[in-house]
Amino acid sequence: EKKVEKTEPEKKPGLMERLLQVEIKEKDVEEALDELELELLEADVALETVEALREKIKEKLVGKKVRIGTNKGKLIEEALREAILEILTPEKKIDLLEMIRSKEEKPFVIVFVGFNGSGKTTTIAKLANWLRKNGLSVVIAASDTFRAGAIEQIEEHAKRVGVKVIKHDYGADPAAVAYDAIQHAKARGVDVVLVDTAGRNELNRNLMDEMKKIVRVTKPDLVIFVGDSLSGNAVVEQAKQFNEAVRIDGVILTKLDADARGGAALSISHAIGAPILFVGVGQGYDDLKPFDEKWFVDRIFG
Ligand code: GDP
Repeated sequence: EKKVEKTEPEKKPGLMERLLQVEIKEKDVEEALDELELELLEADVALETVEALREKIKEKLVGKKVRIGTNKGKLIEEALREAILEILTPEKKIDLLEMIRSKEEKPFVIVFVGFNGSGKTTTIAKLANWLRKNGLSVVIAASDTFRAGAIEQIEEHAKRVGVKVIKHDYGADPAAVAYDAIQHAKARGVDVVLVDTAGRNELNRNLMDEMKKIVRVTKPDLVIFVGDSLSGNAVVEQAKQFNEAVRIDGVILTKLDADARGGAALSISHAIGAPILFVGVGQGYDDLKPFDEKWFVDRIFG
Protein backbone atom coordinates (compact mmCIF):
# COMPACT_ATOMS: atom_id res chain seq x y z
CA GLU A 1 0.00 0.00 0.00
CA LYS A 2 1.41 3.34 -1.06
CA LYS A 3 1.56 6.01 1.58
CA VAL A 4 0.34 9.38 0.42
CA GLU A 5 2.76 12.15 1.34
CA LYS A 6 1.28 15.22 2.96
CA THR A 7 3.17 17.47 0.55
CA GLU A 8 1.65 15.91 -2.55
CA PRO A 9 -0.56 18.48 -4.33
CA GLU A 10 -4.25 17.90 -3.75
CA LYS A 11 -6.16 16.45 -6.65
CA LYS A 12 -7.84 19.26 -8.51
CA PRO A 13 -11.55 19.13 -7.72
CA GLY A 14 -14.16 19.15 -10.44
CA LEU A 15 -16.44 22.16 -11.13
CA MET A 16 -19.27 20.90 -8.94
CA GLU A 17 -16.90 20.27 -6.07
CA ARG A 18 -15.43 23.75 -6.44
CA LEU A 19 -18.84 25.39 -6.30
CA LEU A 20 -19.50 23.63 -3.05
CA GLN A 21 -16.29 24.84 -1.43
CA VAL A 22 -15.56 27.80 0.81
CA GLU A 23 -12.25 29.14 1.91
CA ILE A 24 -11.41 29.37 5.59
CA LYS A 25 -10.74 33.00 6.48
CA GLU A 26 -8.35 34.25 9.10
CA LYS A 27 -11.31 35.83 10.90
CA ASP A 28 -13.08 32.46 11.27
CA VAL A 29 -10.01 30.92 12.81
CA GLU A 30 -9.30 33.86 15.12
CA GLU A 31 -12.79 33.80 16.55
CA ALA A 32 -12.78 30.12 17.31
CA LEU A 33 -9.28 30.32 18.69
CA ASP A 34 -10.20 33.05 21.15
CA GLU A 35 -12.46 30.60 22.87
CA LEU A 36 -10.04 27.70 22.80
CA GLU A 37 -7.25 29.96 23.98
CA LEU A 38 -9.11 30.68 27.17
CA GLU A 39 -9.51 26.97 27.79
CA LEU A 40 -5.82 26.38 27.27
CA LEU A 41 -4.84 29.16 29.62
CA GLU A 42 -7.22 27.77 32.21
CA ALA A 43 -5.51 24.40 31.77
CA ASP A 44 -2.31 26.20 32.77
CA VAL A 45 -0.66 26.20 29.37
CA ALA A 46 1.89 29.05 29.19
CA LEU A 47 0.94 32.08 27.13
CA GLU A 48 3.91 31.72 24.80
CA THR A 49 2.87 28.13 24.06
CA VAL A 50 -0.71 29.18 23.44
CA GLU A 51 0.53 31.79 20.98
CA ALA A 52 2.69 29.25 19.18
CA LEU A 53 -0.33 26.96 18.89
CA ARG A 54 -2.35 29.84 17.43
CA GLU A 55 0.23 30.38 14.72
CA LYS A 56 0.44 26.68 13.93
CA ILE A 57 -3.32 26.44 13.55
CA LYS A 58 -3.57 29.51 11.37
CA GLU A 59 -0.86 28.06 9.15
CA LYS A 60 -2.75 24.81 8.90
CA LEU A 61 -6.17 26.26 8.21
CA VAL A 62 -6.27 29.79 6.81
CA GLY A 63 -6.82 29.67 3.06
CA LYS A 64 -7.79 26.02 3.13
CA LYS A 65 -10.85 25.08 1.09
CA VAL A 66 -13.55 23.08 2.76
CA ARG A 67 -16.99 21.89 1.74
CA ILE A 68 -19.87 24.22 2.48
CA GLY A 69 -21.49 23.24 5.73
CA THR A 70 -18.29 21.87 7.27
CA ASN A 71 -18.30 22.46 11.01
CA LYS A 72 -15.45 24.93 11.35
CA GLY A 73 -15.33 24.73 15.11
CA LYS A 74 -14.71 21.03 14.89
CA LEU A 75 -12.10 21.53 12.20
CA ILE A 76 -10.27 23.99 14.40
CA GLU A 77 -10.41 21.75 17.42
CA GLU A 78 -8.96 18.93 15.35
CA ALA A 79 -6.18 21.18 14.12
CA LEU A 80 -5.48 22.19 17.69
CA ARG A 81 -5.26 18.58 18.84
CA GLU A 82 -2.89 17.88 15.99
CA ALA A 83 -0.74 20.90 16.84
CA ILE A 84 -0.56 19.87 20.50
CA LEU A 85 0.46 16.35 19.52
CA GLU A 86 3.18 17.79 17.31
CA ILE A 87 4.64 19.69 20.23
CA LEU A 88 4.44 16.69 22.53
CA THR A 89 5.88 14.21 20.05
CA PRO A 90 9.59 14.81 19.80
CA GLU A 91 11.66 13.99 16.75
CA LYS A 92 13.74 11.62 18.81
CA LYS A 93 11.50 9.44 20.92
CA ILE A 94 13.13 8.01 24.01
CA ASP A 95 12.43 4.36 24.68
CA LEU A 96 14.15 4.17 28.04
CA LEU A 97 14.26 0.39 28.47
CA GLU A 98 15.48 -0.11 24.93
CA MET A 99 18.14 2.57 25.40
CA ILE A 100 19.39 1.03 28.63
CA ARG A 101 19.43 -2.52 27.30
CA SER A 102 21.22 -1.60 24.12
CA LYS A 103 24.04 0.31 25.79
CA GLU A 104 27.16 -1.74 25.30
CA GLU A 105 29.14 -0.58 28.27
CA LYS A 106 27.34 -0.61 31.62
CA PRO A 107 26.16 1.33 33.53
CA PHE A 108 23.56 3.61 31.98
CA VAL A 109 23.74 6.90 33.88
CA ILE A 110 20.80 9.21 34.52
CA VAL A 111 21.26 12.55 36.30
CA PHE A 112 18.13 14.08 37.84
CA VAL A 113 17.80 17.83 38.25
CA GLY A 114 15.00 19.93 39.71
CA PHE A 115 13.89 22.19 42.51
CA ASN A 116 13.44 21.21 46.15
CA GLY A 117 10.01 19.86 46.79
CA SER A 118 9.39 19.07 43.13
CA GLY A 119 9.26 15.36 43.97
CA LYS A 120 12.74 14.51 42.70
CA THR A 121 13.71 12.08 45.45
CA THR A 122 10.40 10.25 45.34
CA THR A 123 10.57 10.10 41.57
CA ILE A 124 14.03 8.54 41.64
CA ALA A 125 12.72 5.83 43.97
CA LYS A 126 9.71 5.28 41.71
CA LEU A 127 11.91 4.99 38.66
CA ALA A 128 14.30 2.64 40.48
CA ASN A 129 11.30 0.50 41.36
CA TRP A 130 10.06 0.52 37.75
CA LEU A 131 13.49 -0.36 36.37
CA ARG A 132 13.86 -3.26 38.80
CA LYS A 133 10.43 -4.55 37.82
CA ASN A 134 11.70 -4.53 34.27
CA GLY A 135 14.60 -6.74 35.22
CA LEU A 136 17.34 -4.12 35.53
CA SER A 137 19.69 -3.61 38.46
CA VAL A 138 19.97 -0.13 39.90
CA VAL A 139 22.20 1.88 42.22
CA ILE A 140 21.48 5.41 43.45
CA ALA A 141 24.10 8.13 43.96
CA ALA A 142 23.24 10.43 46.88
CA SER A 143 24.71 13.49 45.22
CA ASP A 144 22.55 15.96 47.11
CA THR A 145 25.17 16.52 49.80
CA PHE A 146 23.83 20.00 50.48
CA ARG A 147 20.35 19.82 51.98
CA ALA A 148 20.16 18.55 55.56
CA GLY A 149 18.36 15.22 55.62
CA ALA A 150 18.64 14.62 51.89
CA ILE A 151 20.95 11.61 52.22
CA GLU A 152 18.79 9.90 54.85
CA GLN A 153 15.71 10.61 52.77
CA ILE A 154 17.04 8.98 49.63
CA GLU A 155 18.39 6.07 51.70
CA GLU A 156 14.97 5.49 53.24
CA HIS A 157 13.27 5.43 49.82
CA ALA A 158 16.01 3.23 48.38
CA LYS A 159 15.68 0.74 51.21
CA ARG A 160 11.96 0.44 50.57
CA VAL A 161 12.43 -0.30 46.87
CA GLY A 162 15.43 -2.55 47.53
CA VAL A 163 18.17 -0.46 45.93
CA LYS A 164 21.67 0.33 47.16
CA VAL A 165 22.76 3.93 47.76
CA ILE A 166 26.32 5.20 47.32
CA LYS A 167 26.91 8.15 49.63
CA HIS A 168 29.57 10.41 51.12
CA ASP A 169 29.20 12.90 53.98
CA TYR A 170 27.31 16.17 53.77
CA GLY A 171 29.38 18.86 52.14
CA ALA A 172 31.22 16.33 49.94
CA ASP A 173 31.66 16.96 46.24
CA PRO A 174 28.45 15.74 44.54
CA ALA A 175 30.36 14.87 41.38
CA ALA A 176 32.70 12.63 43.39
CA VAL A 177 29.73 10.76 44.88
CA ALA A 178 28.28 10.18 41.41
CA TYR A 179 31.68 9.08 40.13
CA ASP A 180 31.97 6.53 42.95
CA ALA A 181 28.50 5.19 42.22
CA ILE A 182 29.48 4.67 38.58
CA GLN A 183 32.68 2.87 39.61
CA HIS A 184 30.65 0.71 41.96
CA ALA A 185 28.20 -0.15 39.16
CA LYS A 186 31.02 -0.90 36.73
CA ALA A 187 32.71 -3.25 39.16
CA ARG A 188 29.50 -5.16 39.84
CA GLY A 189 27.82 -5.06 36.46
CA VAL A 190 24.92 -2.91 37.68
CA ASP A 191 22.75 -1.73 34.78
CA VAL A 192 21.67 1.74 35.84
CA VAL A 193 22.99 4.56 38.05
CA LEU A 194 20.43 7.17 39.16
CA VAL A 195 22.06 10.37 40.39
CA ASP A 196 20.10 12.50 42.85
CA THR A 197 21.27 16.11 42.84
CA ALA A 198 20.72 19.13 45.07
CA GLY A 199 17.66 21.25 44.37
CA ARG A 200 17.81 24.62 46.17
CA ASN A 201 14.86 26.94 46.24
CA GLU A 202 16.12 29.31 43.61
CA LEU A 203 18.31 29.04 40.59
CA ASN A 204 21.75 30.40 41.25
CA ARG A 205 25.24 30.25 39.81
CA ASN A 206 26.50 27.80 42.41
CA LEU A 207 23.80 25.29 41.72
CA MET A 208 24.25 25.54 37.97
CA ASP A 209 28.02 25.18 38.27
CA GLU A 210 27.50 22.13 40.46
CA MET A 211 25.13 20.59 37.89
CA LYS A 212 27.61 21.29 35.10
CA LYS A 213 30.39 19.62 37.03
CA ILE A 214 28.29 16.53 37.75
CA VAL A 215 27.46 16.26 34.06
CA ARG A 216 31.09 16.78 33.05
CA VAL A 217 32.31 14.08 35.41
CA THR A 218 29.56 11.49 34.91
CA LYS A 219 28.90 12.00 31.17
CA PRO A 220 25.30 10.88 31.69
CA ASP A 221 23.30 9.07 29.05
CA LEU A 222 20.33 11.19 30.04
CA VAL A 223 19.69 14.32 32.08
CA ILE A 224 16.12 14.31 33.37
CA PHE A 225 14.38 17.38 34.72
CA VAL A 226 11.83 16.66 37.44
CA GLY A 227 9.18 19.35 37.72
CA ASP A 228 6.10 19.89 39.84
CA SER A 229 3.09 20.18 37.53
CA LEU A 230 1.36 22.29 40.16
CA SER A 231 3.84 25.14 39.94
CA GLY A 232 2.40 26.49 36.70
CA ASN A 233 4.61 28.86 34.79
CA ALA A 234 7.40 28.70 37.36
CA VAL A 235 8.16 25.12 36.39
CA VAL A 236 8.55 26.16 32.75
CA GLU A 237 11.07 28.81 33.79
CA GLN A 238 12.99 26.25 35.85
CA ALA A 239 13.11 23.83 32.96
CA LYS A 240 14.43 26.53 30.63
CA GLN A 241 17.19 27.53 33.00
CA PHE A 242 18.33 23.99 33.73
CA ASN A 243 18.22 23.33 30.01
CA GLU A 244 20.57 26.24 29.42
CA ALA A 245 23.03 25.03 32.04
CA VAL A 246 22.91 21.31 31.27
CA ARG A 247 20.95 20.14 28.27
CA ILE A 248 17.75 18.40 29.40
CA ASP A 249 16.98 15.20 27.49
CA GLY A 250 13.69 14.33 29.10
CA VAL A 251 11.17 15.46 31.66
CA ILE A 252 9.23 13.83 34.46
CA LEU A 253 6.27 15.82 35.74
CA THR A 254 5.04 15.05 39.23
CA LYS A 255 1.73 15.47 41.04
CA LEU A 256 -0.45 15.07 37.97
CA ASP A 257 -2.92 13.37 40.32
CA ALA A 258 -3.46 16.71 42.02
CA ASP A 259 -3.38 18.80 38.86
CA ALA A 260 -6.67 18.71 37.00
CA ARG A 261 -5.38 19.53 33.52
CA GLY A 262 -1.61 19.46 33.52
CA GLY A 263 -0.96 22.12 30.90
CA ALA A 264 2.60 22.48 32.20
CA ALA A 265 3.56 19.33 30.30
CA LEU A 266 2.75 21.03 27.05
CA SER A 267 4.47 24.29 27.98
CA ILE A 268 7.68 22.53 29.02
CA SER A 269 7.84 20.39 25.91
CA HIS A 270 7.35 23.50 23.83
CA ALA A 271 9.87 25.57 25.80
CA ILE A 272 12.77 23.12 25.76
CA GLY A 273 11.85 20.64 23.05
CA ALA A 274 12.42 17.65 25.32
CA PRO A 275 9.91 14.83 25.66
CA ILE A 276 7.88 14.10 28.77
CA LEU A 277 8.96 10.59 29.72
CA PHE A 278 6.83 9.84 32.76
CA VAL A 279 4.27 11.47 34.99
CA GLY A 280 3.92 11.05 38.73
CA VAL A 281 0.36 10.28 39.75
CA GLY A 282 0.61 9.71 43.50
CA GLN A 283 2.91 9.19 46.44
CA GLY A 284 3.35 5.42 46.15
CA TYR A 285 6.30 3.79 44.40
CA ASP A 286 4.06 2.44 41.66
CA ASP A 287 2.56 5.84 40.94
CA LEU A 288 4.71 6.55 37.92
CA LYS A 289 3.20 6.28 34.46
CA PRO A 290 4.93 6.36 31.10
CA PHE A 291 3.67 9.49 29.38
CA ASP A 292 1.10 8.99 26.66
CA GLU A 293 0.54 12.00 24.41
CA LYS A 294 -2.96 10.97 23.34
CA TRP A 295 -4.09 10.48 26.92
CA PHE A 296 -2.75 13.91 27.69
CA VAL A 297 -4.48 15.65 24.79
CA ASP A 298 -7.82 14.17 25.85
CA ARG A 299 -7.15 15.40 29.36
CA ILE A 300 -6.39 18.95 28.18
CA PHE A 301 -9.71 19.08 26.38
CA GLY A 302 -11.41 17.98 29.60
P1 GDP B 1 12.27 16.66 46.44
O1 GDP B 1 12.53 17.72 47.45
O2 GDP B 1 12.21 17.22 45.06
O3 GDP B 1 13.18 15.50 46.54
O4 GDP B 1 10.78 16.16 46.73
P2 GDP B 1 10.23 14.83 47.40
O5 GDP B 1 10.54 13.66 46.56
O6 GDP B 1 10.64 14.78 48.81
O7 GDP B 1 8.67 15.09 47.28
C1 GDP B 1 8.02 16.17 47.91
C2 GDP B 1 6.59 15.73 48.25
O8 GDP B 1 5.85 15.53 47.06
C3 GDP B 1 6.53 14.42 49.02
O9 GDP B 1 5.55 14.53 50.01
C4 GDP B 1 6.09 13.41 47.97
O10 GDP B 1 5.41 12.32 48.48
C5 GDP B 1 5.22 14.26 47.08
N1 GDP B 1 5.12 13.75 45.70
C6 GDP B 1 6.10 13.43 44.83
N2 GDP B 1 5.60 13.00 43.67
C7 GDP B 1 4.25 13.05 43.78
C8 GDP B 1 3.15 12.75 42.88
O11 GDP B 1 3.30 12.34 41.72
N3 GDP B 1 1.89 12.94 43.38
C9 GDP B 1 1.68 13.39 44.66
N4 GDP B 1 0.42 13.54 45.06
N5 GDP B 1 2.68 13.69 45.49
C10 GDP B 1 3.95 13.52 45.08
